[in-house]
Formats: sequence, structure tokens, C-alpha cells
Amino acid sequence: MSIELTPLPFKASLLEPFISERTVQLHHGGHQAAYVRNLNSMMELEGDTRSLIEVIQDSTGSTFNNAAQIWNHEFLWKSLTPPGTSPSIELQEELNRAFGSTEVFISQLIQAGATHFGSGWAWLVHDGSKLQITTTANAELPSLTTSQPLLTIDVWEHAYYLDYQNRRPEYLEAVLRNLINWQHIEEQLRISSTLTHRN
Ligand code: MN
Repeated sequence: MSIELTPLPFKASLLEPFISERTVQLHHGGHQAAYVRNLNSMMELEGDTRSLIEVIQDSTGSTFNNAAQIWNHEFLWKSLTPPGTSPSIELQEELNRAFGSTEVFISQLIQAGATHFGSGWAWLVHDGSKLQITTTANAELPSLTTSQPLLTIDVWEHAYYLDYQNRRPEYLEAVLRNLINWQHIEEQLRISSTLTHRN
């Protein structure tokens, strides 16, 4: 069974003006597609029939890197949505409890991504007891067994260089203030059961 390139959940032009259509197309159809191609050819070569998650949890080196980058990018596109949405009252309360306010959460996520050295990802995760911001290097992702990722943003240069050149903080400001898919965070939180088990 081969790994597929998951289609974007929105038209590539709909993140404009914050991320250009050209960047989204190259990011998805160029970079993400290459990870899919690479992983499929490595797995075929080895007669490997594991699922993507199994590969991520039980591989090292370039097999891990390509598999994890596929997962990270699928999660990235779910984390973003065309502008105009806002968090539910329930999610705002969760963010207030963890960070003080939604605004502070966004600022801290921008800061985390802006100060992460080199390629990688900034995340909002639920670690089993609380919401937390974290970053990972290169293809690394938070543990899928001990935590629940809720949101990610890509800080590899390929995610922003065409639109923002070296101005990573400006990219993060634009994307995280306008394109966060709050509904996705809420769905992921429900998976981690924290909303339903609270009270
Ligand atoms: Mn990327």
C-alpha cells in the first residue's frame, strides 16, 4: 500500500494575502509531494507495508524524516484555514487557563516559532494535563503517544521565503493572526478528551 499525497483542504489561493497561492502550490505540490515520492520509493525497495504512523514510530534516518514530514504537512494544512474564523467560547476559556488570553497564546506561538533556530515546527499540544507550546527541529514532531498535537506551523524557509524572504517573524504574525483553524484545534482537543472530561 503506498502513501498518498493528501489534497489540500482549501483552494491554494484562499490563504492570500497572508500566504501566496504560489507558495502554497510549491509547498504542497513540490516539497510535500517529494516527501511522499521519497518515502514510497524507500518503502517499495524494502517491501515495507507499514502505515505512515507505524513508520514514524519505528524508523530512523531518512525513512523517519520523509514519513514525519508527510504527517507534519498533512497536519499543517488542517491547522490553517482561510481568514475570518475565531475560537469558540469554550476554546477561549481553555486558552485563558493555559496562557492568560487568546492574544497571549498567539504572541507566545509567534515568539516560539521566530526564535526556533533553523528548520522545524512550532506546535500547540495537549500533554495529557495542559496546553503547551513547543517547537521541534527538522522533521521531528511531538510524541503521538504521550501528547495530542492541536496545531502546527511550519518554520522551514520553504514555508515563507517566496513571500517574506528572511522575515520569519512577519510570516508568523500574518499567518497566526489570520489563518489559524480554531475548529481544528477544538476537534483535536476533543480527541484528547480534555473538553469533555473537564468540570
Ligand atoms: Mn514545509
